[in-house]
Amino acid sequence: MTTLSTIPVPLPELTAPSVWPASAVTARGGDVSVGGVPLAELAERYGTPVYVLDEAEVRARAAAWRRALPDADVVYAAKAFLCRAMVDWMEQEGVGLDVCSAGELELAASRGFPADRIVLHGNAKSPRDLRTALRLGVGRIVIDSECEIARLAAHVPGPEAQQVMVRVLPGIAAGGHHKISTGAEGQKFGLSIAGGDAEDAVARILGQPRLELVGLHMHLGSQIASAEPYARGVRRVVAFMARIRDRYGVTLPELDAGGGFAVAQLPGEPAPSPAAYGRRINDALVRACAEFDLPLPRLTVEPGRSIVATAGVALYRVLAVKRTGGRVFAAVDGGMSDNPRPALYGARYTVRMVGRPSAAPMRATTVVGRHCEAGDVLAESVELPEDLRPGDVLAVPASGAYQVSMASGYNLTGRPPVVAVAGGRSRLLVRRETFEDHRGRDVGL
Ligand SMILES: *Cc1c(COP(=O)(O)O)cnc(C)c1O
Repeated sequence: MTTLSTIPVPLPELTAPSVWPASAVTARGGDVSVGGVPLAELAERYGTPVYVLDEAEVRARAAAWRRALPDADVVYAAKAFLCRAMVDWMEQEGVGLDVCSAGELELAASRGFPADRIVLHGNAKSPRDLRTALRLGVGRIVIDSECEIARLAAHVPGPEAQQVMVRVLPGIAAGGHHKISTGAEGQKFGLSIAGGDAEDAVARILGQPRLELVGLHMHLGSQIASAEPYARGVRRVVAFMARIRDRYGVTLPELDAGGGFAVAQLPGEPAPSPAAYGRRINDALVRACAEFDLPLPRLTVEPGRSIVATAGVALYRVLAVKRTGGRVFAAVDGGMSDNPRPALYGARYTVRMVGRPSAAPMRATTVVGRHCEAGDVLAESVELPEDLRPGDVLAVPASGAYQVSMASGYNLTGRPPVVAVAGGRSRLLVRRETFEDHRGRDVGL
């Protein structure tokens, strides 16, 4: 019999913008289900920690970006999270891939992802990165320093030229944290427009017959919760395109506005929709091109987090509950080895107990990992029931981006598995890292 308390209802956090996938609903017995599968069941079946990825949410976010900018190329920033299924989903949704290593490239190639829809980035591309990119025939290589221009040109097999872009620094500070702010002067990425480095690189590339300069690229940073920095950046890049036309007689046909579109990490945080970002960026591009009398270049955007973050939910089991120094700590079976973001940039999360009902009052609890660092904190002072105990399952939404992809081997705990949910079913995408995996790499004495 269905009682009121077992009728699935959207989670209370589901006021836009939400930190949960759209499919998240309350389920029987104090649980939450995602993609039609109860989270506690997934914790039981696959063990913890485990990362759950809602396939429909990933696809819907990718599709929303395509709808937001129908005339642009949408390129998924693979470093947010990549596995073979993800490569297939992006291919099927008509989205390209932005990669920054031979490894990411090889994974995409292993699924037959069309190489001409791949963009290779990197401030320090290794010989192997460049060789792999040229062998597979990636569509665009984004130049990030002068010294890679001649090196790349020397390896282009020809007769066709390799299409390249130049990553320019529009000189705009934006983003959620200085460690993820990449559009301002004085950090390691890009070539300064103001300082003349960008123009030097353009001149050098134009002098290389094996390279074809097709456009300019900017990437302002990450967790940029307003479209305004993009609008300003696009105008500066278009102004620079006009200067290139005036000085070199070349009209560049493409502009890549990068990624960095914010998602809500906490309920109610600002996170413009892809449509809102798209409108503002497109509008700025049209205006700037009119101002500088340039034809509209083809636009590219590179959302990473925006496509995958809210599709992911991390599940942990509580190992210990401790009250000390006037605070309550809940220690779980994962931590900074699967999610370094709180320690790296002070990222914040909500946490919810799943899998059993509790009528206990809520209290501020700090959720910490199991690793040997006092900074191994997953979520500071979140509301959890007072009767939280070892064995309970905790769910951390908005965990799809830059967690599994940044996971480490710290303490040899083993990187967690990734499980896809769709239509009431689950399947393993990436298995858990085992002790044998570690032992197998340890080959000398
Ligand atoms: C990291 C990165 C992105 C994606 O950033 P998100 O914050 O995940 O959207 C896009 N382009 C480049 C060049 C990047 O380095």
